Amino acid sequence: YVSVVLFTADLRLHDHPPLRAALDGTREVVPLFVRDRGVADAGFAVPNRLAFLADCLRDLDSGLRRHGGRLVVRSGDLVEEVCQVVAEADADEVHMAADVSAYAHRREARLRRALEADGRRLHVHEAVTTALAPGAVTPASSDHFAVFTPYFRQWSRQRMRDPLGVPRTIRVPEGVGSEEVPSRAGLPGVSAGLAAGGEREGRRRFSAWLRQGIADYEDRHDDLAVDATSRLSPHLHFGTLSPVELVHRARGAGGPGADAFVRQLAWRDFHRQVLAARPAAATADYRTRHDRWRTERTAQEDIEAWREGRTGYPVVDAAMRQLRHEGWMHNRARLLAASFLAKTLYVDWRVGARHFLDLLVDGDVASNQLNWQWMAGTGTDTRPHRVLNPVTQARRHDPDGSYVRRWVPELARLEGLAAHEPWKLRGPERDAVDYPGPVVDLAEGLDRFRRARGRA
Ligand code: FAD
Repeated sequence: YVSVVLFTADLRLHDHPPLRAALDGTREVVPLFVRDRGVADAGFAVPNRLAFLADCLRDLDSGLRRHGGRLVVRSGDLVEEVCQVVAEADADEVHMAADVSAYAHRREARLRRALEADGRRLHVHEAVTTALAPGAVTPASSDHFAVFTPYFRQWSRQRMRDPLGVPRTIRVPEGVGSEEVPSRAGLPGVSAGLAAGGEREGRRRFSAWLRQGIADYEDRHDDLAVDATSRLSPHLHFGTLSPVELVHRARGAGGPGADAFVRQLAWRDFHRQVLAARPAAATADYRTRHDRWRTERTAQEDIEAWREGRTGYPVVDAAMRQLRHEGWMHNRARLLAASFLAKTLYVDWRVGARHFLDLLVDGDVASNQLNWQWMAGTGTDTRPHRVLNPVTQARRHDPDGSYVRRWVPELARLEGLAAHEPWKLRGPERDAVDYPGPVVDLAEGLDRFRRARGRA
């Protein structure tokens, strides 16, 4: 009996239900990853994620080799490649993790049809890429939760399955061809400060987080300069860490920091259950429709200034430059940058979401698009008219200006809170700072937003 285990967003050996199921009662297993042409055609195969993915695949391959196996890598149309590997290995079944996007659903349906037409079976496993499966809890009147708090109440009450250990021995059948496992070396366009990927790196980070970071998480997670969040998001995106295992171990650590961290993992599941039920929310306004957005055509210069981090609002510019340099941003920085584009500049949130997806190493359809919608007031936020003021927010979350000084070197010589309001400088002091003036007056931006939303 031979099984294929198709790895997608679950690039690990710990707590891997598809691999465990395949090994139970199976002689041989083909661990397979397909570099799916469809993902590249949709514009999702961007340099930062390709580089991180390459690290993950290398590490997965060496992990499998430690247990007697190896990773088979193919490129092309995912369904065709899986069917080809099934034929080469004469496999009986394929195991994979469930996923939530419209693309993933279509792909899974195509794969099922192709395999069943050939007398093979597809097994899709839940709670591999999420802690709780989408749809596992629902409100009385709908197929998904549209508000986080009641979702979280239910989510917290669910018993999560126990995490699984690493399989002991993996035997791969002869005669299945593989491409060379990719490497990040030489990939063009990768952010200079991009983090390293792979399961070993993810586990090392998570253990360090449990020892040193999580206890202070509740108090410090919003402080931009202290940078005291876990930075586990790319590992969750590529599945080098299991959300089920993270919830278990964080709960085991206990305390207010762990509670706050587990709550963020529930936010991740929350957006996934929204997208699973409403796949169109990746591009269409989820709750409130707006059609008076400024666009690439009507706000080109403002959009460029935002993308390049020269809006003249230091905290927004710091955020956008961190994104470019690291392929990652602090959550508070994402909120500020998104509010600024969608509300203060009144630019269509899809323009900003696309730019984030082009650079974020954790760039993810569910988390990115739905957080953008949340911030743009079209999504699940219960206070859609709130606008974050970049100056008051900067004073609160970067209280001595060091986040701004780190990312905006033009302002590095301004002390303390002066870094947040360079337009207040006068005479030679102002002349000595080579930094643009604000692209928009905040009061005018607020006014435009309120008029467009019919709340003037
Ligand atoms: P921590 O604070 O340590 O949180 C732990 C984990 O919880 C994160 O790794 C993440 O998996 C999850 N999480 C935390 N906050 C959220 C949230 N609001 N929504 C969903 N999951 C959450 N996250 C992504 O993973 N991919 C994205 O593409 C993405 N785009 C975003 C776009 C905008 C406009 C905003 C406001 C947020 C976005 N987020 C996204 C959510 C959040 O900002 C990041 O998950 C977080 O900053 C990652 O840093 P961390 O791992 O240190 O988080």
